Amino acid sequence: MASCRQRLLFRRILSCVTSRARKKIPSQRWFSLFTSNPRSSKNRGSFEPKIYDVVIVGGGIMGSSSAYFLANRMAPEMGRICVIEQDPTYTRASTVLSLAGIRSQFSMAENIQMCQFSFQFISDVGQILAVDGCDPPDIQLRRRGYLFLASSDGEDVMQKNYALQSKLGCQVTLLTVKDLEERFPWLNTEGLSLASLGTGNEGYFDPWSLLNAFKRKAISLGVDYVNGEAVDFDTDQNGQISSVKVVSSSSPENVNVIHCGQLVNAAGPNAGYLAEKLGIDLPVRPRKRYVFVLDCPGAPANESFPLGFLVDPSGLYLRHDGARFLSGLSPKSMEDYDSSDFEVDYDYFTDRMWETIAHRIPAFECLKVNVAWAGHYDYNTLDQNAIIGRHPEVRNLIFVNGFSGHGIQQSPAAGRAVSELILDGGFQTIDLSLLGFERVMRNEPMREKNIV
Ligand SMILES: Cc1cc2nc3c(=O)[nH]c(=O)nc-3n(C[C@H](O)[C@H](O)[C@H](O)COP(=O)(O)OP(=O)(O)OC[C@H]3O[C@@H](n4cnc5c(N)ncnc54)[C@H](O)[C@@H]3O)c2cc1C
Repeated sequence: MASCRQRLLFRRILSCVTSRARKKIPSQRWFSLFTSNPRSSKNRGSFEPKIYDVVIVGGGIMGSSSAYFLANRMAPEMGRICVIEQDPTYTRASTVLSLAGIRSQFSMAENIQMCQFSFQFISDVGQILAVDGCDPPDIQLRRRGYLFLASSDGEDVMQKNYALQSKLGCQVTLLTVKDLEERFPWLNTEGLSLASLGTGNEGYFDPWSLLNAFKRKAISLGVDYVNGEAVDFDTDQNGQISSVKVVSSSSPENVNVIHCGQLVNAAGPNAGYLAEKLGIDLPVRPRKRYVFVLDCPGAPANESFPLGFLVDPSGLYLRHDGARFLSGLSPKSMEDYDSSDFEVDYDYFTDRMWETIAHRIPAFECLKVNVAWAGHYDYNTLDQNAIIGRHPEVRNLIFVNGFSGHGIQQSPAAGRAVSELILDGGFQTIDLSLLGFERVMRNEPMREKNIV
């Protein structure tokens, strides 16, 4: 239930934005927009102004989760929400190109707590995101723990991570080399000192299904999805964002203006480029990551490889995908560049990965790369961690960006956090203040040590 304070806050925002918009745009220049919300017939073909209390740029998992958590708490009279998405097919979005693993094995309390909430949420997603008249969403959650392997160099960090994870109630166990040999006889333990295995609340799921579930539920709660690209912004005399210019995806000659009370940057790998249009330096860039799909007849079968992901000390990961395996490895930092293409370099597997896989699991000496794809991490160049919070000066701008390789799993917690910033004026459940934009301004990285 919305509190009186929230209702008042929203009425105030709405009336302020409305009057600001009326002053700026003569009524004959108000456009109809290309919304994809079948319930919002009021937006079709009408010439009413496009004024929203909250405008979210980017309709991937972050934008759609934020929209859902907001709409779920806001009665329609409290305000209107729209999500601007340039590509409703999501062919290049990180969300659908990801492997959607979820784990509790992080080194920072904030990341652990976000994933604890998120795992609970996605476990119950069939009920939480159900929409009347539709089949309940099924995101095909597989409950399987991550196995992190450490060499002697990484042993100390693993022990510290384990201590924090245990304190926070994670289901994780440490394994010695002997334990590993007994449990996973197909594993070569040479060079290993320790391992950490998730024994509950970890696994992977289908990211496309989770995205659709968030989006469908958000639309059912009255959120408008607009098909277009946010290309520019207007600010008022106080430097606050007053409107967004949107180019229609279907007819690029159509440029429309949407007035907003609050603006959420959920543009994924493009978030830094979007922020640039406001003169803000947000250290989030698209960084290419390959996923190779492997056929390996001699590899351990599903039952003898009962893991979510196996993560080698080199950072290389491997997980089952039915009868096949999926594998990837982030490049070394000096070889990691901003990227705009989705080409796969198959030599990367041969030159950088194959030897490591075959060393760790000798059965992989004989394999075939069946297919591969490339996606972009929403890579935070400062510290590979999320940036969630308001801009300290442009107060109506909220970031939910930079999740690097762990965004899907944090999306429920991140969306909820955005809704708290907007509806409550600050974090209520998990205190994510340390992940705010202020650390970027101070150039103080908050490094997560367990990055994949
Ligand atoms: C290969 C790979 C593997 C991964 N594996 C995992 C994993 O196992 N676990 C995990 O938790 N995370 C994983 N990730 C990371 C995760 O996918 C991302 O952190 C997450 O999807 C980010 O979601 P997003 O909504 O911010 O970005 P996106 O999904 O990219 O969505 C952003 C959307 O914004 C739209 N957009 C951008 N600019 C504009 C604009 N100007 N106007 C309108 N629309 C715009 C885009 O079209 C896009 O649809 C992986 C990523 C990759 C690439």
